[in-house]
Amino acid sequence: MLTEISFYHAVLLGWLGVAAAVFVVLQFVVAPYGRHARKGWGPSIPRTAGWVLMEFPAAALLPFIALISVRTLSTPGIVFLFIWLLHYLNRTFIFPFRMRGGEGRMPVLIVASGFVFNGVNGYLQGGHLFLLGPERGVEWLWDPRFVSGALIFLCGWLLNMRADAKLRALRTPGQTGYKIPRGGAFRWVSCPNYLGEIIEWTGWALATWSVAGLAFALWTAANLVPRALAHHRWYRKTFPDYPTDRKAIIPGLY
Ligand code: NDP
Repeated sequence: MLTEISFYHAVLLGWLGVAAAVFVVLQFVVAPYGRHARKGWGPSIPRTAGWVLMEFPAAALLPFIALISVRTLSTPGIVFLFIWLLHYLNRTFIFPFRMRGGEGRMPVLIVASGFVFNGVNGYLQGGHLFLLGPERGVEWLWDPRFVSGALIFLCGWLLNMRADAKLRALRTPGQTGYKIPRGGAFRWVSCPNYLGEIIEWTGWALATWSVAGLAFALWTAANLVPRALAHHRWYRKTFPDYPTDRKAIIPGLY
């Protein structure tokens, strides 16, 4: 009989397999939104609505699972909810409305993939924290795995937020087109926002000490490393004066 825990593990295992497949596919196909938008990807919707829709399951699912769980919400559980919402309230309800460059459109296919990703990922993270994973007492908050993971998350979050703000500042409201981003971590890499995102979820994996967290970090890297390479190639092709010593996503290396 399929129990809740065996269902969860089956989804988790399948999810790791899908991450590997996505990584391979993204070596050949660049997701068609932003500067890589192109025709032939079916119907599209306004970009702002697209971002809100695809991120909504992540923002909603963790608080929902915490609420319906028969377990009492622990102090670490509250802290993990806070960390999660620190990222997802911005990504879902603030970031999309602050993007500049006019109201572009996004293929429904991208929105649907993002929606499914955030739904499954929200279930896996929430399932581990509030339903099926080990019940952590308040002492978890000074365990070295939590402390180092939370600090790594915070560094990644700050990097991601600062890099997204720098990109936003490249355009005045309504202005379109692209410029070479300079300063901050852009001195070293073309996509510090993606690097920040990968660091965030690596910290999350450590702080939650879970396979679900690890799966999220791997998924993020599988998605964003190939996209950073595509951005990097695009910058070099588009701007003849693009800094030659800048790497795509890992300073000094890659
Ligand atoms: P991009 O860096 O491609 O774009 C971010 C915003 O900045 C867009 O509004 C973009 O405009 C604008 N922009 C980017 N470069 C320039 C430039 N050189 N000149 C002017 N404007 C520029 O990021 P994404 O849109 O792919 O992602 C946005 C956020 O979402 C990031 O923080 C990312 O980490 C996160 N994300 C996380 C994922 C995950 O797997 N966890 C997956 C995807 C994104 P335009 O849209 O017109 O290109």
